Amino acid sequence: MTKTPMSAPADPASWSPETQLVHGGTLRSEFGETSEALFLTQGFVYTSAEQAEARFKNEDPGFQYTRFANPTVSMFEERLRLLEGAEMCRATATGMAAVTAGLLSFLSAGDHIVAARAMFGSCRYIVETLCPRFGIAMTLIDGRDLAQWEAAIKPNTKGFFFETPANPTLDLVDIAGVTAIAKKHGITTVVDNVFATPMLQRPLALGADVVVYSATKHIDGQGRCLGGAVLGSNKFLNDHLQDFFRQTGPSLSPFNAWVMLKSLETLPIRIRQQSASAAVVADRLAAAPGVNRVIYCGRDDHPQADIARKQMSGGGQMIAFEIEGGKEAAFRFQNALRLVRISNNLGDAKSLITHPATTTHFRIGPEARAELGISDGILRLSIGLENGDDIGADLDAALKAARA
Ligand SMILES: *Cc1c(COP(=O)(O)O)cnc(C)c1O
Repeated sequence: MTKTPMSAPADPASWSPETQLVHGGTLRSEFGETSEALFLTQGFVYTSAEQAEARFKNEDPGFQYTRFANPTVSMFEERLRLLEGAEMCRATATGMAAVTAGLLSFLSAGDHIVAARAMFGSCRYIVETLCPRFGIAMTLIDGRDLAQWEAAIKPNTKGFFFETPANPTLDLVDIAGVTAIAKKHGITTVVDNVFATPMLQRPLALGADVVVYSATKHIDGQGRCLGGAVLGSNKFLNDHLQDFFRQTGPSLSPFNAWVMLKSLETLPIRIRQQSASAAVVADRLAAAPGVNRVIYCGRDDHPQADIARKQMSGGGQMIAFEIEGGKEAAFRFQNALRLVRISNNLGDAKSLITHPATTTHFRIGPEARAELGISDGILRLSIGLENGDDIGADLDAALKAARA
């Protein structure tokens, strides 16, 4: 396989997302396989010394080494790129590798970044601990408040970083509002779009420069492989990401790329089904005795429902709720569940629940938790592909047990 022509007859950019996710990016080999091939190889052989030379001079478009690019990984990148409507996509070994590459590829000592403080724990480490160690100053703000973004800008501010909806309280950041401020000041905006998924929210269309994913979550969607992706413009790739990516090596394994490439085929129907179940479960929880508060992006009583409606095309599959009775009730509740499993992971086909105060947000301490609204009664629920009534019945029974 010296040349790998795109077998697609039509312009994939003109296809609907569902079609892009089945056919987009396919590189069919000389054997004409229907299902995409897994190229589990580190390197590539050249037909001649001249070809090797041409490839290293970028005069021959083939592959060189899997740390740089691999046909299976390229198929995954192209499929996700089409869905996101980005100019480029680079797949990474984990979501955190994507966040790290997305930020550190363009930031340097002496720069300053502003980030929303409600975010995934490891992302907070990158911003709060790692960046300052290398001379990149940072300011953490309440990302819900546009005025705080503007007020935090300094002459050396180079980047804005946030996730929306945020883990675990589903706080939202107004993407168009923040990117408008960023553009006025020549600031690069990086958005972690994991919770919304590329099906329900399009940060690039709303003005963001870079989008990062943990593909570990909904993109795999079946709890198997770790992976991630950075998407944005060709200019960002050429000016910043390409060299950082090739030389520091956060590359995605071809095996994991293959699993997640096949997963993309079913992403739309999975997200549709999981979101529909989540909407029903959220309403059921809101009406249940023993539940103080339900936070769901698809409900009118979400504190930022107007922003959810403006920038999300669905409520998603994540729910947060506060149980009456604090940690003890939350633990009794989790221990009484028979179907929903206790796990800090999310975006799986299996419904998963976690108690952030004692797991994902244990390390940040009680003060930071209070600041983020993570009380001891808050539980985070990731709705899977089971029947929504079965999930609801399990939650109802466990709520009863927690009150007994
Ligand atoms: C899981 C997650 C990450 C990190 O992804 P990994 O694949 O676990 O490295 C980053 N951001 C958010 C919002 C996540 O949920």
